[in-house]
Amino acid sequence: MINGKRIVDEFLHLVCIDSESLNEKEIADYLAKKLKELGLDVWVDNGGGKFKGNAGNVMGRLKGNVKGEPLLFIAHMDTVKPGNGVKPIIENGVIKSDGNTILGSDDKSGIVVILEILRILKKDNIPHPEIEILFTFAEEIGLYGAKTVDTNRLHSKCGFALDSEEIENIIIKAPFQNSIKIDIYGIESHAGVVPEKGISAIEVAAEAINNMKLGRIDSETTANVGIIEGGKAANIVAGHVKLICEARSHNVDKLEKQTKHMIDAVNNVVRNSEININKKKLIAKSNETVIREFDGISVDKDEFPAILAYKAIEKTGLKPRFEQSGGGSDANILNGKGIKTVILGTGMSNVHTKEEFIKVKNLIKTAEIVGNIIRLSYE
Ligand SMILES: [Zn+2]
Repeated sequence: MINGKRIVDEFLHLVCIDSESLNEKEIADYLAKKLKELGLDVWVDNGGGKFKGNAGNVMGRLKGNVKGEPLLFIAHMDTVKPGNGVKPIIENGVIKSDGNTILGSDDKSGIVVILEILRILKKDNIPHPEIEILFTFAEEIGLYGAKTVDTNRLHSKCGFALDSEEIENIIIKAPFQNSIKIDIYGIESHAGVVPEKGISAIEVAAEAINNMKLGRIDSETTANVGIIEGGKAANIVAGHVKLICEARSHNVDKLEKQTKHMIDAVNNVVRNSEININKKKLIAKSNETVIREFDGISVDKDEFPAILAYKAIEKTGLKPRFEQSGGGSDANILNGKGIKTVILGTGMSNVHTKEEFIKVKNLIKTAEIVGNIIRLSYE
């Protein structure tokens, strides 16, 4: 039986453990110990070390006692800032912070639900297929845990990330994202004495950006120039400008097309920037770095994790909704690594703000949903 008091007590304990991104050691140790106590084979990596963090991913596997597909449940251990010294308050069935920090229900609500379900499986001797758990580090600052985790050690081909708000929602689509860094090199010269001997990187950038399609490109695709930096002084024709841009799309071909369009926009202006000094042709230069920040999520409504989540939410007495997300989360990375993963809500609200809160009844409902997922997976 799901025990509401036990969930709340453990949740309060978890949110009081400081675990801002890259400082997850205390909570990682705690969770590894818990998983062992609950009968799981546990292993941890030291993925955080590569990013000057003090912890890695925590993984566990509970042997199945019925036939069925292995199921992976995922939550992240880190929180955003200010996340140290959380003092949780419960009022009328709502848990919040004292207003000086975030609460950390993102994503400790996911963790607490997973622990509760594991406890019930063991205590009540409930039949279940093989269950795998992945608690990641540094999700909030770049999905580092999911990116570095060795998924070859996992058996599951289907996963559920407990890391969203509305408990009726099943996120089955999320965009692919490229970050695009473009350096534009002009030619510096004195702006008051010999401006004709310079090529302004700022002017090149301005014209290029002006030629870019940005914002909402179509129903699946967006693009943005988020940072522009450059120039040294009002009297110097600018020699360097850096543009930090991104493009997102649910369709990988459209993403690549948009990315190319933005780079081409710069190259076209660069090509026409030629000046002649002492019969020597000079031209601006540019170079770009494109990084695939994360792959998208594209789970069909009739694929196993989507069907399972839908039925489980329905069985809990709620009306399930398939949704798409505009952002990136661990689930994006896991899908990219071949584990079909959907994102479920836990009731966390106003996340990443000091007004973050969660209703106790939603924590309990989420545990019911996860319990139903496990039961329905082999029935
Ligand atoms: Zn989260």
